[in-house]
Amino acid sequence: MTQIALTGLTKVFDGNVTALDSLDLTIETGEFFALLGPSGCGKTTLLRTIAGLENATSGAIRLGDRDVTRVAAGSRDVAMVFQDYALFPHMSVLDNIGYPLKIRGQSKEARGDQSQRVGEQLGLSHLMERRPAALSGGQQQRVALARAVACHPSLFLFDEPLSNLDARLRLEARGFLKRLQRELGVTTVFVTHDQAEALALADRIAVMEAGRIRQLGTPRQVFRRPANTFVANFIGSTPMNLVDATIGGDDVEIAGGRLPVPDELRGVLPTGTPVIVGMRPEYVRLSAQPAASSIVGEVAILEHLGATTLVTVDCDGEAVSATVPEDAEPAPGDRVHLSPQPGRMLLYGRDDGELI
Ligand code: ADP
Ligand code: MG
Repeated sequence: MTQIALTGLTKVFDGNVTALDSLDLTIETGEFFALLGPSGCGKTTLLRTIAGLENATSGAIRLGDRDVTRVAAGSRDVAMVFQDYALFPHMSVLDNIGYPLKIRGQSKEARGDQSQRVGEQLGLSHLMERRPAALSGGQQQRVALARAVACHPSLFLFDEPLSNLDARLRLEARGFLKRLQRELGVTTVFVTHDQAEALALADRIAVMEAGRIRQLGTPRQVFRRPANTFVANFIGSTPMNLVDATIGGDDVEIAGGRLPVPDELRGVLPTGTPVIVGMRPEYVRLSAQPAASSIVGEVAILEHLGATTLVTVDCDGEAVSATVPEDAEPAPGDRVHLSPQPGRMLLYGRDDGELI
């Protein structure tokens, strides 16, 4: 139940690998916060630095009203759950859950009671005497969570805790984790490379690249208005259309056709400005008839996603995709017209990839 404030946080390994590059970030009390980014972007390093398992090269970390930048890990009141769970193989489930309490000097009886209570809460009562090797992946994951919950930390740090579970179990564990966090109200930083997991779980998301935050926002904000083409490419279960185009008066010249410049940008960009048009397939309409303003092309590929179909259309040599209900899908080779839903077309700078 603590606010986290990072200022100018930098971590350089071996004098030359900058894993965290002057990060400024405030995570609010009780927030479920996701750190999302590709492998190697610095997510684990950021968690370990908050936990005190790595020393910051420069910058500061505040937890609540304490500056903990130089405080030892054991005195930060933080519980971390690791990707591989890090359970002790020679200890029972009960002893694994109670281990942090033992370190804190609690009596065997008191920690036994508390471990039982938390184990019950997480559906582990019948497994308390087992060793980790005799548990399924999902059960091991719950033991790791129980160990974190049992010591009543003021902060949870989760490093890809669901990534070793198979797809179905992962969805279950996701819902479970979200309910648990809501019930306990503990500030939580959740690391993942899975954008769907971040969108589903988090109150806010930071999308990281190379030790920096490229966008910070609610799931809706980062999905609807990615701040740059890096985030646009990273977020969404189907990739966003990013098509080179040029401003021509009140229109954008794109894929052999013309679409209107978004209202708020009309008259702002001179004719001839090179841009990248961003349109999520979910926000592109497909029809057999031309719309008031649309681009035209030939259906090239159909990908069946279940209730919807992703249709990729060849528009004058550019591939543009649209999502349609499965019962409304066209056939390969059909001539179709595409138009973005009002307010859903974004323009990025061709030179810097930033949202205009
Ligand atoms: P992520 O968790 O996002 O995959 P990491 O935080 O593990 O990324 O790594 C960020 C960068 O820091 C990578 O370039 C990685 O090679 C480097 N790195 C991480 N830990 C160490 C270390 N102990 N020594 C040297 N380089 C490291
Ligand atoms: Mg990692």
